Amino acid sequence: MNRGAILVTGGAGYIGSHTCKALAANGYTPVVFDNMSGGHPWAVQWGPLEYGDCRDYEALVRVIRQYKPVAVMHFAAFIAAGESVADPGKYYGNNVGGMITLLSAMRDTGLDKIVFSSTAAIFSTDSMDPIGEDRAQSPSNPYGASKAMCEELLRGFAAAHGIRSVALRYFNAAGADPDGELGEAHEPETHLIPLILEVAAGKRQEILIFGDDYPTPDGTCIRDYIHICDLAEAHILSLGFLNGSDGAGANAFNLGNGSGFSVMEVVEAARSLTGHPVPARIVERRAGDPPVLICDARRARKTLGWRPQHPNLTTQIEHAWSWMTRA
Ligand code: UDP
Repeated sequence: MNRGAILVTGGAGYIGSHTCKALAANGYTPVVFDNMSGGHPWAVQWGPLEYGDCRDYEALVRVIRQYKPVAVMHFAAFIAAGESVADPGKYYGNNVGGMITLLSAMRDTGLDKIVFSSTAAIFSTDSMDPIGEDRAQSPSNPYGASKAMCEELLRGFAAAHGIRSVALRYFNAAGADPDGELGEAHEPETHLIPLILEVAAGKRQEILIFGDDYPTPDGTCIRDYIHICDLAEAHILSLGFLNGSDGAGANAFNLGNGSGFSVMEVVEAARSLTGHPVPARIVERRAGDPPVLICDARRARKTLGWRPQHPNLTTQIEHAWSWMTRA
Protein backbone atom coordinates (compact mmCIF):
# COMPACT_ATOMS: atom_id res chain seq x y z
CA MET A 1 0.00 0.00 0.00
CA ASN A 2 1.37 3.43 -0.91
CA ARG A 3 -0.06 6.07 1.41
CA GLY A 4 2.01 8.90 -0.04
CA ALA A 5 5.10 10.89 0.79
CA ILE A 6 5.80 12.55 4.14
CA LEU A 7 8.25 15.45 4.29
CA VAL A 8 10.48 14.70 7.27
CA THR A 9 12.67 17.62 8.31
CA GLY A 10 15.55 16.42 10.47
CA GLY A 11 14.91 12.88 9.29
CA ALA A 12 18.64 12.05 9.47
CA GLY A 13 18.65 12.59 13.25
CA TYR A 14 17.85 10.33 16.18
CA ILE A 15 14.07 10.61 16.54
CA GLY A 16 13.52 11.50 12.87
CA SER A 17 15.31 8.43 11.52
CA HIS A 18 13.46 6.01 13.80
CA THR A 19 10.21 7.63 12.68
CA CYS A 20 11.21 7.25 9.01
CA LYS A 21 11.59 3.52 9.59
CA ALA A 22 8.10 3.41 11.16
CA LEU A 23 6.67 5.48 8.29
CA ALA A 24 8.05 3.04 5.72
CA ALA A 25 6.66 0.09 7.70
CA ASN A 26 3.25 1.78 7.54
CA GLY A 27 3.25 2.35 3.78
CA TYR A 28 4.50 5.97 3.62
CA THR A 29 7.56 7.26 1.76
CA PRO A 30 9.65 9.47 4.04
CA VAL A 31 11.36 12.30 2.15
CA VAL A 32 14.13 13.53 4.43
CA PHE A 33 14.94 17.24 4.36
CA ASP A 34 18.03 17.83 6.49
CA ASN A 35 20.97 20.24 6.57
CA MET A 36 23.07 17.42 8.09
CA SER A 37 24.24 19.67 10.94
CA GLY A 38 23.40 16.86 13.37
CA GLY A 39 22.17 14.10 11.06
CA HIS A 40 23.95 11.15 9.50
CA PRO A 41 23.74 9.83 5.91
CA TRP A 42 23.60 6.23 7.23
CA ALA A 43 20.42 7.07 9.13
CA VAL A 44 18.54 7.83 5.89
CA GLN A 45 17.51 4.34 4.74
CA TRP A 46 13.85 4.47 3.79
CA GLY A 47 13.50 7.24 1.21
CA PRO A 48 15.30 10.08 -0.53
CA LEU A 49 17.54 12.62 1.20
CA GLU A 50 17.17 16.25 0.18
CA TYR A 51 19.91 18.43 1.58
CA GLY A 52 18.49 21.72 2.84
CA ASP A 53 17.89 24.08 5.74
CA CYS A 54 14.47 24.83 7.20
CA ARG A 55 15.20 28.56 7.02
CA ASP A 56 15.49 28.24 3.22
CA TYR A 57 11.99 28.98 1.93
CA GLU A 58 12.86 28.37 -1.74
CA ALA A 59 14.36 24.95 -1.03
CA LEU A 60 11.32 23.89 1.01
CA VAL A 61 8.87 24.98 -1.69
CA ARG A 62 10.91 23.18 -4.35
CA VAL A 63 10.96 19.91 -2.39
CA ILE A 64 7.24 20.16 -1.58
CA ARG A 65 6.40 20.76 -5.26
CA GLN A 66 8.63 17.86 -6.33
CA TYR A 67 7.40 15.17 -3.92
CA LYS A 68 3.85 16.42 -3.16
CA PRO A 69 3.89 15.16 0.46
CA VAL A 70 0.56 14.56 2.19
CA ALA A 71 1.94 15.85 5.52
CA VAL A 72 5.07 17.18 7.23
CA MET A 73 6.92 15.87 10.27
CA HIS A 74 9.17 18.57 11.66
CA PHE A 75 12.10 17.27 13.71
CA ALA A 76 14.86 19.64 12.55
CA ALA A 77 16.01 21.72 15.52
CA PHE A 78 18.81 22.28 17.99
CA ILE A 79 18.10 20.21 21.10
CA ALA A 80 20.64 20.73 23.88
CA ALA A 81 18.96 22.49 26.82
CA GLY A 82 22.28 23.35 28.48
CA GLU A 83 23.77 24.87 25.33
CA SER A 84 20.65 26.94 24.75
CA VAL A 85 21.27 28.84 28.00
CA ALA A 86 24.74 29.84 26.80
CA ASP A 87 23.68 30.59 23.20
CA PRO A 88 19.99 31.55 23.09
CA GLY A 89 20.25 33.28 19.71
CA LYS A 90 21.30 30.02 18.08
CA TYR A 91 18.18 28.31 19.46
CA TYR A 92 15.59 30.98 18.76
CA GLY A 93 17.11 31.71 15.34
CA ASN A 94 17.10 28.13 14.11
CA ASN A 95 14.15 26.60 15.93
CA VAL A 96 11.70 29.49 15.67
CA GLY A 97 13.07 30.81 12.37
CA GLY A 98 12.87 27.35 10.80
CA MET A 99 9.30 26.91 12.01
CA ILE A 100 8.12 30.22 10.56
CA THR A 101 9.73 29.44 7.21
CA LEU A 102 8.38 25.90 7.09
CA LEU A 103 4.83 26.96 7.98
CA SER A 104 5.00 29.74 5.38
CA ALA A 105 6.09 27.25 2.72
CA MET A 106 3.25 24.92 3.74
CA ARG A 107 0.70 27.75 3.59
CA ASP A 108 1.90 28.83 0.15
CA THR A 109 1.83 25.32 -1.33
CA GLY A 110 -1.46 24.23 0.25
CA LEU A 111 0.16 21.58 2.48
CA ASP A 112 -2.04 21.53 5.57
CA LYS A 113 -0.91 18.85 8.04
CA ILE A 114 2.10 18.80 10.33
CA VAL A 115 3.36 16.72 13.27
CA PHE A 116 5.79 18.78 15.33
CA SER A 117 8.56 17.64 17.72
CA SER A 118 7.86 19.50 20.91
CA THR A 119 9.27 18.79 24.33
CA ALA A 120 8.63 18.45 28.04
CA ALA A 121 11.08 21.35 28.38
CA ILE A 122 8.13 23.70 27.80
CA PHE A 123 7.22 22.73 31.38
CA SER A 124 9.12 23.01 34.64
CA THR A 125 8.30 21.48 38.01
CA ASP A 126 9.79 20.30 41.25
CA SER A 127 6.87 18.02 42.07
CA MET A 128 6.32 14.37 41.21
CA ASP A 129 2.84 15.16 39.86
CA PRO A 130 2.61 13.89 36.28
CA ILE A 131 2.30 16.73 33.77
CA GLY A 132 -0.77 16.76 31.55
CA GLU A 133 -1.34 18.90 28.49
CA ASP A 134 -3.17 21.62 30.40
CA ARG A 135 -0.32 22.36 32.78
CA ALA A 136 0.82 26.00 32.47
CA GLN A 137 3.89 26.33 30.27
CA SER A 138 7.01 27.67 32.00
CA PRO A 139 10.17 26.76 30.07
CA SER A 140 13.38 26.65 32.13
CA ASN A 141 15.69 27.31 29.20
CA PRO A 142 15.72 28.92 25.72
CA TYR A 143 15.44 25.49 24.09
CA GLY A 144 12.10 24.87 25.81
CA ALA A 145 11.03 28.46 25.17
CA SER A 146 11.82 28.11 21.45
CA LYS A 147 9.58 25.03 21.26
CA ALA A 148 6.80 26.79 23.18
CA MET A 149 7.01 29.61 20.61
CA CYS A 150 6.75 27.07 17.79
CA GLU A 151 3.56 25.72 19.37
CA GLU A 152 2.25 29.30 19.45
CA LEU A 153 3.02 29.58 15.73
CA LEU A 154 1.08 26.36 15.11
CA ARG A 155 -1.95 27.87 16.83
CA GLY A 156 -1.65 31.02 14.73
CA PHE A 157 -1.31 29.15 11.44
CA ALA A 158 -4.23 26.88 12.37
CA ALA A 159 -6.51 29.84 13.04
CA ALA A 160 -5.43 31.92 10.05
CA HIS A 161 -4.66 29.31 7.40
CA GLY A 162 -6.35 26.08 8.50
CA ILE A 163 -3.08 24.18 9.00
CA ARG A 164 -3.81 21.11 11.15
CA SER A 165 -1.14 20.18 13.63
CA VAL A 166 -0.14 17.80 16.37
CA ALA A 167 2.61 18.90 18.75
CA LEU A 168 4.14 15.87 20.47
CA ARG A 169 5.83 16.84 23.74
CA TYR A 170 8.50 14.17 24.18
CA PHE A 171 9.75 13.58 27.67
CA ASN A 172 13.26 11.98 27.56
CA ALA A 173 13.83 9.94 24.40
CA ALA A 174 15.88 6.80 25.07
CA GLY A 175 16.90 3.47 23.55
CA ALA A 176 17.46 2.43 19.96
CA ASP A 177 15.88 0.40 17.18
CA PRO A 178 15.69 -3.18 18.55
CA ASP A 179 16.68 -4.49 15.07
CA GLY A 180 19.99 -2.65 15.40
CA GLU A 181 19.56 -0.57 12.22
CA LEU A 182 19.49 2.80 14.00
CA GLY A 183 20.50 4.43 17.27
CA GLU A 184 21.53 7.62 18.99
CA ALA A 185 24.69 9.33 17.70
CA HIS A 186 24.86 12.98 18.69
CA GLU A 187 28.17 14.78 18.20
CA PRO A 188 29.05 15.96 20.74
CA GLU A 189 26.88 13.76 22.94
CA THR A 190 25.18 15.63 25.78
CA HIS A 191 22.46 13.18 26.82
CA LEU A 192 22.61 11.16 30.00
CA ILE A 193 22.09 7.55 28.88
CA PRO A 194 24.53 7.50 25.93
CA LEU A 195 27.14 9.32 28.05
CA ILE A 196 26.81 6.74 30.83
CA LEU A 197 27.13 3.94 28.27
CA GLU A 198 30.24 5.55 26.80
CA VAL A 199 31.76 5.23 30.28
CA ALA A 200 30.68 1.58 30.44
CA ALA A 201 32.20 1.00 26.99
CA GLY A 202 35.52 2.48 28.12
CA LYS A 203 35.26 5.54 25.85
CA ARG A 204 34.97 7.96 28.76
CA GLN A 205 36.39 7.82 32.28
CA GLU A 206 33.44 8.93 34.39
CA ILE A 207 29.95 10.36 34.26
CA LEU A 208 29.46 13.82 35.71
CA ILE A 209 26.24 14.20 37.66
CA PHE A 210 24.96 17.74 37.33
CA GLY A 211 23.87 18.63 40.85
CA ASP A 212 22.72 16.59 43.86
CA ASP A 213 20.97 19.40 45.72
CA TYR A 214 17.65 19.40 43.87
CA PRO A 215 14.41 18.99 45.84
CA THR A 216 14.14 15.27 44.96
CA PRO A 217 14.62 12.16 47.15
CA ASP A 218 18.31 11.64 46.21
CA GLY A 219 18.95 15.25 45.18
CA THR A 220 19.45 14.51 41.46
CA CYS A 221 17.06 15.48 38.65
CA ILE A 222 14.17 13.19 37.80
CA ARG A 223 13.12 12.45 34.22
CA ASP A 224 10.60 10.21 32.46
CA TYR A 225 12.38 8.07 29.83
CA ILE A 226 10.43 6.99 26.77
CA HIS A 227 11.59 4.51 24.15
CA ILE A 228 12.44 5.97 20.75
CA CYS A 229 10.24 3.42 18.92
CA ASP A 230 7.27 4.34 21.09
CA LEU A 231 7.81 7.96 20.10
CA ALA A 232 8.01 6.93 16.44
CA GLU A 233 4.71 5.07 16.76
CA ALA A 234 3.02 8.16 18.22
CA HIS A 235 3.90 10.00 14.98
CA ILE A 236 2.18 7.37 12.86
CA LEU A 237 -0.91 7.56 15.07
CA SER A 238 -0.83 11.37 14.82
CA LEU A 239 -1.02 11.18 11.03
CA GLY A 240 -4.19 9.13 11.31
CA PHE A 241 -5.56 11.60 13.85
CA LEU A 242 -4.85 14.59 11.57
CA ASN A 243 -6.73 12.90 8.76
CA GLY A 244 -9.79 12.34 10.96
CA SER A 245 -12.65 14.63 11.88
CA ASP A 246 -11.09 15.52 15.26
CA GLY A 247 -7.78 16.54 13.74
CA ALA A 248 -8.59 20.16 12.87
CA GLY A 249 -6.76 23.01 14.59
CA ALA A 250 -3.63 22.86 16.75
CA ASN A 251 -3.47 19.79 18.99
CA ALA A 252 -0.92 18.63 21.55
CA PHE A 253 -0.05 15.40 23.35
CA ASN A 254 2.45 14.68 26.11
CA LEU A 255 4.46 11.49 25.56
CA GLY A 256 6.11 9.61 28.42
CA ASN A 257 5.62 6.56 30.61
CA GLY A 258 4.53 8.27 33.81
CA SER A 259 7.48 6.98 35.87
CA GLY A 260 10.35 9.17 36.97
CA PHE A 261 13.97 8.08 37.44
CA SER A 262 16.68 10.16 39.07
CA VAL A 263 20.09 10.61 37.43
CA MET A 264 21.53 8.34 40.15
CA GLU A 265 18.91 5.67 39.41
CA VAL A 266 19.76 5.74 35.70
CA VAL A 267 23.46 5.35 36.51
CA GLU A 268 22.64 2.43 38.81
CA ALA A 269 20.44 0.74 36.18
CA ALA A 270 23.26 1.02 33.63
CA ARG A 271 25.75 -0.43 36.12
CA SER A 272 23.53 -3.47 36.66
CA LEU A 273 22.90 -4.00 32.98
CA THR A 274 26.46 -3.58 31.73
CA GLY A 275 28.30 -5.01 34.74
CA HIS A 276 30.64 -2.01 34.58
CA PRO A 277 31.23 0.12 37.72
CA VAL A 278 30.56 3.41 35.80
CA PRO A 279 32.43 5.87 38.02
CA ALA A 280 30.33 8.97 38.74
CA ARG A 281 31.24 12.37 40.15
CA ILE A 282 28.89 15.06 41.44
CA VAL A 283 29.52 18.48 39.90
CA GLU A 284 27.66 21.79 39.72
CA ARG A 285 24.12 21.96 38.42
CA ARG A 286 23.76 22.47 34.67
CA ALA A 287 21.99 25.76 33.96
CA GLY A 288 18.40 25.44 32.75
CA ASP A 289 17.56 21.99 34.19
CA PRO A 290 14.10 21.68 35.78
CA PRO A 291 14.22 19.37 38.85
CA VAL A 292 11.44 16.97 37.84
CA LEU A 293 9.61 16.11 34.60
CA ILE A 294 7.11 13.24 34.72
CA CYS A 295 4.46 12.75 32.05
CA ASP A 296 0.73 12.22 32.23
CA ALA A 297 0.08 10.63 28.80
CA ARG A 298 -3.58 9.78 29.30
CA ARG A 299 -4.68 12.02 26.42
CA ALA A 300 -2.34 10.28 23.94
CA ARG A 301 -3.54 6.87 25.14
CA LYS A 302 -7.20 7.78 24.89
CA THR A 303 -7.25 9.95 21.77
CA LEU A 304 -4.45 8.42 19.69
CA GLY A 305 -4.69 4.87 21.06
CA TRP A 306 -0.98 5.09 21.91
CA ARG A 307 0.41 2.08 23.83
CA PRO A 308 4.13 2.25 24.66
CA GLN A 309 5.77 -1.14 24.03
CA HIS A 310 9.05 -0.59 25.90
CA PRO A 311 8.25 1.27 29.13
CA ASN A 312 10.99 -0.48 31.11
CA LEU A 313 14.09 1.68 31.71
CA THR A 314 16.41 -1.35 31.66
CA THR A 315 15.05 -2.41 28.25
CA GLN A 316 15.65 1.11 26.93
CA ILE A 317 19.24 1.08 28.23
CA GLU A 318 19.73 -2.45 26.86
CA HIS A 319 18.71 -1.36 23.34
CA ALA A 320 21.00 1.68 23.53
CA TRP A 321 23.82 -0.58 24.79
CA SER A 322 23.33 -3.10 21.95
CA TRP A 323 23.53 -0.23 19.46
CA MET A 324 26.65 1.26 21.04
CA THR A 325 28.48 -2.07 21.25
CA ARG A 326 27.36 -3.43 17.84
CA ALA A 327 30.04 -5.18 15.85
N1 UDP B 1 22.82 14.85 33.15
C1 UDP B 1 23.90 14.62 33.99
N2 UDP B 1 25.11 14.40 33.43
C2 UDP B 1 25.31 14.40 32.08
C3 UDP B 1 24.20 14.62 31.23
C4 UDP B 1 22.96 14.84 31.80
O1 UDP B 1 23.77 14.65 35.23
O2 UDP B 1 26.46 14.22 31.64
C5 UDP B 1 21.48 15.09 33.75
C6 UDP B 1 20.87 16.42 33.35
O3 UDP B 1 21.30 17.44 34.19
C7 UDP B 1 19.38 16.11 33.47
C8 UDP B 1 19.29 14.62 33.11
O4 UDP B 1 20.61 14.10 33.26
O5 UDP B 1 18.96 16.28 34.80
C9 UDP B 1 18.83 14.37 31.68
O6 UDP B 1 19.61 15.19 30.83
P1 UDP B 1 19.63 15.01 29.25
O7 UDP B 1 20.63 16.01 28.72
O8 UDP B 1 19.86 13.57 28.91
O9 UDP B 1 18.17 15.35 28.79
P2 UDP B 1 17.24 16.65 29.06
O10 UDP B 1 16.41 16.32 30.27
O11 UDP B 1 18.11 17.85 29.24
O12 UDP B 1 16.42 16.72 27.81
